[in-house]
Amino acid sequence: MKILFVASEINPFASTGGLADVTGSLPHALGREPDMDICRVMPFYHQVAERGFQPRDTGIRIEVPVGFRTYPAEIWVTDDPAPRTYFIRRDEFFDRSYLYGTPEKDYDDNFERYIFFQKATVALIDALQLKPDIVHCNDWQTGMLPLLLRHGIRGTGRVAQERTVFTIHNLAFQGVFPGSAYGITNLPFLYFHLDGLEFYGNVNCMKAGITASDRVTTVSQTYAQEIQTEAVGCGLHGLLAKLGTKLVGLQNGVDYEKWNPANDSQIAARFDAQHLEGKQTCRETLARLLGLPVKAGRPIIGMITRLTDQKGLGLLAAAITEIMQRDVTLIILGLGQQKYHDACRQWGQQWPDRIAVKLDYDSPLARRIIAGSDLMLMPSQFEPSGLNQLYAMRYGSIPLVHDVGGLTDTVEQVNAEGTSGTGFKFRGFQHDAMLASLDQALALFRRPTEWRKLMTRAMEKDFSWDRTAHDYIRLYTEVLAKR
Ligand code: ADP
Repeated sequence: MKILFVASEINPFASTGGLADVTGSLPHALGREPDMDICRVMPFYHQVAERGFQPRDTGIRIEVPVGFRTYPAEIWVTDDPAPRTYFIRRDEFFDRSYLYGTPEKDYDDNFERYIFFQKATVALIDALQLKPDIVHCNDWQTGMLPLLLRHGIRGTGRVAQERTVFTIHNLAFQGVFPGSAYGITNLPFLYFHLDGLEFYGNVNCMKAGITASDRVTTVSQTYAQEIQTEAVGCGLHGLLAKLGTKLVGLQNGVDYEKWNPANDSQIAARFDAQHLEGKQTCRETLARLLGLPVKAGRPIIGMITRLTDQKGLGLLAAAITEIMQRDVTLIILGLGQQKYHDACRQWGQQWPDRIAVKLDYDSPLARRIIAGSDLMLMPSQFEPSGLNQLYAMRYGSIPLVHDVGGLTDTVEQVNAEGTSGTGFKFRGFQHDAMLASLDQALALFRRPTEWRKLMTRAMEKDFSWDRTAHDYIRLYTEVLAKR
């Protein structure tokens, strides 16, 4: 079975969040299965070379029509790391400091950039005669692909041999652009209506992917249910509720070759569920690195996240004074909305020996925080999958999470005696609910023997991709059976 993954970001080449983790690791897991032939396509961003990757030029050039204009696309490729990744290169669109926009605002030409990318992908499939059975699209940047595969890059028609799967990684970002821009797709006008891709007079790329693909998936089972409700459906809940069995939730996994404290060379000391001494070294080294005093009985709470409303920064702001009335240390690593940068900075100044703040995107530091923390705080308003809680558990850092989406599905609430469960979950997006959960965690932390057992339980949980990879293969097989 031949699968082509198409995504706007793939690790290790370029990333802004969880999407890149998934497109970086799921294809790898699928490629290990018998009879699976996997390759990927992404834009050739500035970041690719910056991170030290040197894809090679295939020499293939494709003329890509975007409305009345035509732009040449270059096809580059690398096999390291596997599976094979093709890059669509056009520096005018992708050789920029950021992927989607500056911290102030999105790039004005994002619709054009990703229409170009998707059309170049269709042309690449034909030019290289890739003949994928399934094109697996991810998020709004690839939402128009099912239609472009059907109609071709000029909109004049194409014999589409391939089937499509569309994965929603985060419904909150839909790629909505003015209806007047629809012309640059060169697609027939017949899709511009309520049951197609039209959304209050605009083009909605996410909606295009949902309506035009053969199957829709999300990245956890609970999120698949939640997006059918008004509270989480971001205006598309009605459409999603009508999909029935076309919509499925498949929980994201972890690549334990990359996330294993027993052989992680980037952390201060190695440890595993049976040998926890190294965890203590990681804690102390982390505290020292960030200029915090080391105190054994004072738990370190880590938070590694986009600093946004979605990630619960508002809730944290409402609770921060009460949190700091407890004997805890808080480490925050992230980038995001300006108001939260300001707030975090201020907290760091107010409690300099108990709060450390790094306003940065820093993967090596993220690992050290995961390894050195006792608790990982994820008070997300909604959370399609969440990956940090999975990494944290493997590194003996106990998740404290809002009971939503993928967090619901992957964290088991610790029972009253502290003898079962893998973390702490609070219901209701209220700061007193979060504080009550924190108090429960702190009470258990004061019982070191019980806490060690909790760490062991969390570390032994298995969220490897293998199981989810089998679910995807089953789904692909079903899709192909309907051909
Ligand atoms: P989302 O994709 O919604 O941002 P996820 O939890 O699914 O959230 O994935 C985010 C990924 O990005 C995690 O692997 C997390 O550790 C990482 N990450 C987020 N912010 C930072 C940061 N500032 N520095 C390093 N890694 C980060």
